[in-house]
Amino acid sequence: MSEDLEQLKQRLPLLEYLQRHNWTGNHVGAGDEFVGLCPLHPDTQPSFYINARKNLFYCHGCNCGGDLIRFVERSEHLSFRESIAHLKHEIALAAESELLDRTAAFYQMQLQRHREAVDYLQKRGLRDPSLITELGLGYAPGGNLLRHLADFGYSLDLLLRAGLFTSQGREAFSRRIIFPCYQQGRVINLYGRSIGAAFPHRLLPRSKGGLFAWQSVSVFSTVILVEGLFDLAVLWQAGFRNTTCAIGTHLTPAQLSQLGDQPGRDVYIAFDNDPNQAGQEAACRLARRLKIAGLYARIVSLPADQDPNSYFLAGASAADFRACLERAQLL
Ligand SMILES: [Zn+2]
Repeated sequence: MSEDLEQLKQRLPLLEYLQRHNWTGNHVGAGDEFVGLCPLHPDTQPSFYINARKNLFYCHGCNCGGDLIRFVERSEHLSFRESIAHLKHEIALAAESELLDRTAAFYQMQLQRHREAVDYLQKRGLRDPSLITELGLGYAPGGNLLRHLADFGYSLDLLLRAGLFTSQGREAFSRRIIFPCYQQGRVINLYGRSIGAAFPHRLLPRSKGGLFAWQSVSVFSTVILVEGLFDLAVLWQAGFRNTTCAIGTHLTPAQLSQLGDQPGRDVYIAFDNDPNQAGQEAACRLARRLKIAGLYARIVSLPADQDPNSYFLAGASAADFRACLERAQLL
């Protein structure tokens, strides 16, 4: 048991745990010590010290000190046993996130090596190489991921848990353009757009996380919300960097509260104008939810059968799209 605990504390050092939970500390002198505000009591003067080498903390404000497990007991109000379970869960999540980072990087390498992937991006009107890099776009040809990941020694169990392989051992993504979904700088899911006959959209069976690229979009007081990531990509390419996407028409409560993190934000909903009106109906429902949440919602109407991606492909310019935005009525 005690060996287990030592191993656990080594795998997740105290300082790393705190930083992951948004603690910031400054170096004290040239040694292994850091000081910052105490997360355990209301603190105005930095009184919380970490010794990174000893993997211990001490707070001169609330006189609490100890190791990572002690810290979790106090900060999460958990028992010793529960704290250990909590930390094991964190370690598992970190391993999955590292795996997804590596997978996304692998798919990025594949993109330029496969003519069909590059052609597909061209066909969808995505031409700006720097944007393709910035979005971290990749390509899953299918059939070669396991060999690549085997070099890192991941367990099959982890690969299955992350959703990268099905229980039959097949790769989740094959012949798909991959958009990595980031949250706090880490990949938390991958979206794959089929370039062949398979069902077009696929996410790994795990949380889709927050709104796409919210870290950069959240600074805007006016936001454009689209259904698909290709809509987002072409709008970014046309200069509408305030575009975000929930991947689909349904927003989770967490995504809704992201939109509301700036009171009175203007949200332009630019969903597909498909013949069965599904996109427009979803836009109306969403607009009502946004209004209740205190936001200003406008529904952008594109020409019949168009989504933002196809609209630009059909020859529309940034000025044309801006005109659509200007015509959108406040709900
Ligand atoms: Zn304290």
